Amino acid sequence: MLMWFRNVWMAVSTVAHGMFVTLNTMRKTYSHDRRTFADTYAYPEEPLKVKPRYRGFHRFDLTTCIGCEKCAQACPVDCIYIEKEKSPVGKGFRLTGFAIDYTKCMFCALCVEPCPVDCIFMGSNHDLSCYSRDGCIVDYAKLPLEIAWGRATLNPTAVAESKVLHQPVWVKGEESPFEFSET
Ligand code: SF4
Ligand code: SF4
Repeated sequence: MLMWFRNVWMAVSTVAHGMFVTLNTMRKTYSHDRRTFADTYAYPEEPLKVKPRYRGFHRFDLTTCIGCEKCAQACPVDCIYIEKEKSPVGKGFRLTGFAIDYTKCMFCALCVEPCPVDCIFMGSNHDLSCYSRDGCIVDYAKLPLEIAWGRATLNPTAVAESKVLHQPVWVKGEESPFEFSET
């Protein structure tokens, strides 16, 4: 019996809490507290602040990826396309392409978890506007390393410039520029 009353109380209190949040948001909408977007943010001159665990466009480190394809296998919508060939240097593969189709990606981050070398993460960038669907397909192996993995912003210009490249920007055996900056 006690459990029954507890469940009823929990149901009523959670519904009341939800209604309070809804009504409070509605009140703000019609009150003078609410400012326009442009009053609050100076976008695009200043980037929008995002939460620490925001899932934006990926960060990918070409220099540590081993081409195991675990990320692609984990992707529920099959939007990661990996091209690789046998490495002439050392063991394993060298990547020639690592493309993500953002017309399909749903930013679930399931590709991040299985990566054995932690070379793919969800980044904080949210703006990749483009005029064609081709602009939404980003080949991280053809982007400058500091944009694909570093703190520089993934942007439509960099993506457009990467489309004319036929070879990855870094090949296995070359010195990694991140050995010092990311530690
Ligand atoms: S975030 Fe999700 S949908 Fe996007 S590439 Fe990763 S696994 Fe696929
Ligand atoms: S899981 Fe990691 S190492 Fe394997 S292919 Fe994907 S990004 Fe590269």
